[in-house]
Amino acid sequence: MLSERIKQLQPSPTLALDSQVKALQKAGTPVVNLSLGEPDASTPEIIAKAGIQAIKDGFTHYTAVAGIPELRLALARHLNTKHHSKYTAEQVVIGVGSKSLLYLTFQVLCNPGDEVLVATPTWSTYLEQIKLAGGVPITIPLTTPFIFTAEECRKKITAKTKIILLNSPNNPTGAIIPTDELARIATLAKEYNLLIVSDEIYDEIYYNSPAPRSIISVDPSIADRTILINGFSKAYAMTGWRIGYLAAPLPIAKAVGNLQGQITSNTSSISQKAALTAIQDGNEAVKILKKTFSERRDFVAQELAKIPGLEFLLPDGAFYFFVSIQSLLNKNTPTATDWCTKLLEQEKVAVVPGEAFAAPGYFRLSFAASMEDLQKGLEGIKRFVISSFKM
Ligand code: PLP
Repeated sequence: MLSERIKQLQPSPTLALDSQVKALQKAGTPVVNLSLGEPDASTPEIIAKAGIQAIKDGFTHYTAVAGIPELRLALARHLNTKHHSKYTAEQVVIGVGSKSLLYLTFQVLCNPGDEVLVATPTWSTYLEQIKLAGGVPITIPLTTPFIFTAEECRKKITAKTKIILLNSPNNPTGAIIPTDELARIATLAKEYNLLIVSDEIYDEIYYNSPAPRSIISVDPSIADRTILINGFSKAYAMTGWRIGYLAAPLPIAKAVGNLQGQITSNTSSISQKAALTAIQDGNEAVKILKKTFSERRDFVAQELAKIPGLEFLLPDGAFYFFVSIQSLLNKNTPTATDWCTKLLEQEKVAVVPGEAFAAPGYFRLSFAASMEDLQKGLEGIKRFVISSFKM
């Protein structure tokens, strides 16, 4: 009954785990959920109020497919200030979250068999979306500290390579690609006439100065071949509003807009008004969120270090620890998925197995959770590891 294309599709492992957790919670079992890819905080009040005002004002109709002009302009200016770029409002497309814009981007760019270079560990959505577009994801396995390098990338380039995908700060590792490496990747892309898709959704969430750079700010000439993707979900705690944006060379932006016009049309008019307030007045809220994440990151690092057998690096950005459990896997618990399932069953603590990021032997712990949950969760993980030594 189903198309071959859809039969190949892997459901989102993080969302699948989340429904497992929700089912347990519904059945009355309390679960400490450290699997989530979203800030636990509510959307900052000034942003939420802008959404409410939009409803009260009757701003509840279809808008232009690519977004309301004032938001597109505000985002072009925002990017230009941040990256010294030269985007016009026409080059910016507002969509139903950055996830949807990534999907549209691959649909617009990939011909059958086109290869897209993706470093692993990676957010698995990219791999599925590339395949859905007829492209072929070519993975580049990285080892700690998980820094994507031009040198590794060069080894995988073939006549069919079309796109290099960047995600910095990275989900799940928190790694940030250093400036000199971004410059080398830009040079490589120009040498081989490749496009860059740069997912910068976590760029406001970083823990050391200076701020992570976008490839377009490191080498302005790369903007001609870069599709920059960002959104409001993470930095402004707006996951449920479903709004993201893309900035790209004009023909690509237009094509994405045309395709969006045949699929979802515009994203919510209300979310667009809220996003306008976020981009204009949301700076303070981002600072508060970052400070909270920074404190939690320090706490989690301190507690994880007390658990034998776990290996991890302090994440430079995003809100995840990517923890190696290779030394804890054995005959009874051979994979990270087994390990995480047992942890959930035994201690009612949810973390995401590395398989979900094409990186077996790890789990991802999100610290976008309350201190109380983090404490309980880490105690559960510690008990679980110690009990496994006794078996
Ligand atoms: N890109 C990465 C790397 C993510 O981790 C996520 C969400 O988890 C997204 C994009 C999607 O965000 P949005 O809510 O804007 O669709």
